[in-house]
Amino acid sequence: MNSKTATLYIVATPIGNLGDMTTRAIEVLKAVDVILAEDTRHAATLLREFGIDTRTWSFHDHNEDKQRDAVLDRLEEGNDIALISDAGTPLISDPGFTLVREAQRRGLNVSPVPGACALIAALSASGLPTDRFSFNGFLPAKTGARRRVFSSLRQESQTLIMYESSHRIIACLDDLILEMGAERYVAVGRELTKKFEQFYCGSVEAVKETIASADNHQKGEFVLMIAGQTEISVEQAEVRRFLSLLSKEVSVKTASQLAAGWFGGKRNDYYQLAMRLREDEP
Ligand code: SAM
Repeated sequence: MNSKTATLYIVATPIGNLGDMTTRAIEVLKAVDVILAEDTRHAATLLREFGIDTRTWSFHDHNEDKQRDAVLDRLEEGNDIALISDAGTPLISDPGFTLVREAQRRGLNVSPVPGACALIAALSASGLPTDRFSFNGFLPAKTGARRRVFSSLRQESQTLIMYESSHRIIACLDDLILEMGAERYVAVGRELTKKFEQFYCGSVEAVKETIASADNHQKGEFVLMIAGQTEISVEQAEVRRFLSLLSKEVSVKTASQLAAGWFGGKRNDYYQLAMRLREDEP
């Protein structure tokens, strides 16, 4: 622990629904000496809503380097400071990382005030495995770079989460089909906590068709979640065919061993699938 008493609070704010503002976030934002805000005008609307009249300083990607030392000096002088972003949890695809790193290096108190975060909200309601997941931030804007990201993640067995913008969601799903196959299971969360909140779940091909079917589905903010390779590959038609054919010739145990060797993933997943296929057979 350090001897300084001033604290840098990392305060989460709602991702759409103002009802998600926490009591502690309001208390902390009222009590600190300064609030660092990504966009001070945007913050003003939120702060007014909750009767917070603490002064704000602008703190965003383009001035983080310039502002950082001044903020750290203020903290060292004993001023409590809070960092907020436009929505959700600061630092999660939002500014603040180097500030927090430097504050930790200087031995200052840094304290989170948790609340909304789009990736966690999306994951919690997606129906995808939550025991292991990776967050990959925003996908690249260009198709080549995006495909390289998907390609590099193809074999990952954990749930993959990324942020995507509304005007690229269809192109992004097209690239995903090319790199991970049309059968890969995905969940897409749109406009979470807002009026038009929606989840699209199923094979990436089916989800893309639904989202492409009407302009309304392409509006707003998106979280893309991709089922990990193990979960997926055992559902693919190719794998099913492989297992069905092989299980007729060798034991289910051997067939699942061979499938795991050929496609990657856990033998037991293939074993379970082979048993299901056997039960389904007429
Ligand atoms: N710091 C934020 C958080 O805690 O999630 C994320 C900020 S990042 C600049 C904004 C991106 O987060 C959006 O482009 C979208 O991908 C995702 N996002 C934010 N709010 C969302 C919402 N209500 N529904 C779906 N996605 C959302």
